[in-house]
Amino acid sequence: MSEPAAPSNFIRTLIDADLAAGKTGGQVITRFPPEPNGYLHIGHAKSICLNFGLALDYGGRCHLRFDDTNPLTESPEYIRSIQDDVRWLGFDWGEHLHFASDYFPRLYEFAVRLIEKGKAYVCDLSADAIRESRGTLTEPGRESPYRDRPVGENLDLFARMRAGEFPDGSRTLRARIDMRAPNLNLRDPVMYRIRRAPHHRTGAAWSIYPSYDWAHGQSDYIEQITHSICTLEFEDHRPLYDWFLEQIDAQPRPRQIEFARLNLSYTVMSKRLLLELVREGIVAGWDDPRLPTLAGLRRRGVTPEAVRQFCTLIGVARADSLVDLELLEGCIRKELEPGTPRVMCIHQPLRVVIENWPEGKVQELNAPYFPGEPGKLGARPFPFSRELYIERDDFMEQPPKGFFRLSPGGEVRLRWAYVVRCTGVVKDARGEVVELRATVDPETLNAAPAGRKVRGTIHWVSAPHALRAEVRLYDRLFSVPNPVADKNGDFKRALNPNSLEVLHGAMAEPSLASAQGGARFQFERKGYYCVDPVASRAGRPVFNRIVSLRDSWAKVREG
Ligand code: ATP
Ligand code: MG
Repeated sequence: MSEPAAPSNFIRTLIDADLAAGKTGGQVITRFPPEPNGYLHIGHAKSICLNFGLALDYGGRCHLRFDDTNPLTESPEYIRSIQDDVRWLGFDWGEHLHFASDYFPRLYEFAVRLIEKGKAYVCDLSADAIRESRGTLTEPGRESPYRDRPVGENLDLFARMRAGEFPDGSRTLRARIDMRAPNLNLRDPVMYRIRRAPHHRTGAAWSIYPSYDWAHGQSDYIEQITHSICTLEFEDHRPLYDWFLEQIDAQPRPRQIEFARLNLSYTVMSKRLLLELVREGIVAGWDDPRLPTLAGLRRRGVTPEAVRQFCTLIGVARADSLVDLELLEGCIRKELEPGTPRVMCIHQPLRVVIENWPEGKVQELNAPYFPGEPGKLGARPFPFSRELYIERDDFMEQPPKGFFRLSPGGEVRLRWAYVVRCTGVVKDARGEVVELRATVDPETLNAAPAGRKVRGTIHWVSAPHALRAEVRLYDRLFSVPNPVADKNGDFKRALNPNSLEVLHGAMAEPSLASAQGGARFQFERKGYYCVDPVASRAGRPVFNRIVSLRDSWAKVREG
């Protein structure tokens, strides 16, 4: 990968100290541990770039581990998509594709060891009763009446839980720690629940499934992870993470380090909320280009390099913050600016008839693809004919001062072609402008007009050659920066009704007829667009707007 190495951060400092102290045998082994219950989003990208990035920089490795401990919400579709997305981002787990479910037998053995040591017990309280007896930050919890069950009885009940003898939710295995602990996570947390549901990988083999806290640290240990990096909400779980590892005599022990998760403005990132948008058809699927999912960003046309640069730019810290969506858009533009061919596409066409151009005459002009990049070659033929399309809003009948485009009697340069003068306006019965009449100055092909100044340059296409296209203009999905907090949790009230505008009658230059799905272009004066790989048909492309140009005027004004 070409981008510069990530700047240092507190995690690197901790790792450097561990290495200097000889703590991990000189190794750095990290993991990215998604739960396969949804598609990955750009928040996950932050974690992926961090974990895989550290492994690359320290010459270690990073595992992809599916935290597949809840068969009710997980699916093979998510497992597939997560692998696709990590690869798309540019990372490789090599041999180290792992599943927590592969460790179910080991986790079970570890649990038996805890029972034998008197550090875990089978509890017959319901989930509600456990929650209710847990206490609060100011009040201690109450001990379960089952807490002092003899070891033999615990072992017998636990084996029968596993064998599926008891109904869902009727019993749990709990760690026996301290119901008075100030940290609520240490108040006899649940290690196993009965859930007699088939699992996508282990089938009907298990009737009990481990909790996150129990599965996670022990999986880290089994894989010999040295640094287990997670988001801040797990900080209070770290004492439990360490307690479990101590009980199983883990040696050497992985170290948990927390960092602040990415929050991005004008979107939501929780998989639960994303799933709600997908299920209710509010968006067109997990890869809807308006979503912050990696599948959505990819379909929209965002490059993996832009996502990685964004992750580098935001850095890694311990303070929560809301990152402005514009920062991501800036990275996308910066990444696309060099090397993306510039073409022309009219979004809202207005017909112009050039009265002094003979009917049937076609001139092949030559239009460079990379005008902003001296030395970078590449051009396409660009036909000029008697009938053209320009952008409807590039004409104004009564132009305000400072309007440099076309108006009655006024002149404008057509990009890569001639200066034209508007000589007439044709209106329909309702008074709408439906066509312009114009004349071309034949002396002005790639040359300034003699004796007068033409300030504006507009884009255009030849009408008989134009390619009819669909253009999808995406805007932010929500109209407030923090949809969940700003609407007291009712985030769907903050949806932006104009997040997608579809233009069915766009007219693109003919060279785009052969554009492949996924190809990216700059539409001059408009923005960056990508040929939608799914919705496009031969000869009828669909263009997704990736991002608009920040300043669409400065670049093409003459003089
Ligand atoms: P969500 O809350 O969006 O549903 P999650 O944390 O439940 O996400 P996991 O599949 O458990 O999703 O996450 C896998 C890894 O990605 C975890 O290590 C988690 O800390 C990290 N992660 C998830 N969301 C973010 C985020 N917004 N920023 C940084 N890391 C994240
Ligand atoms: Mg999670």
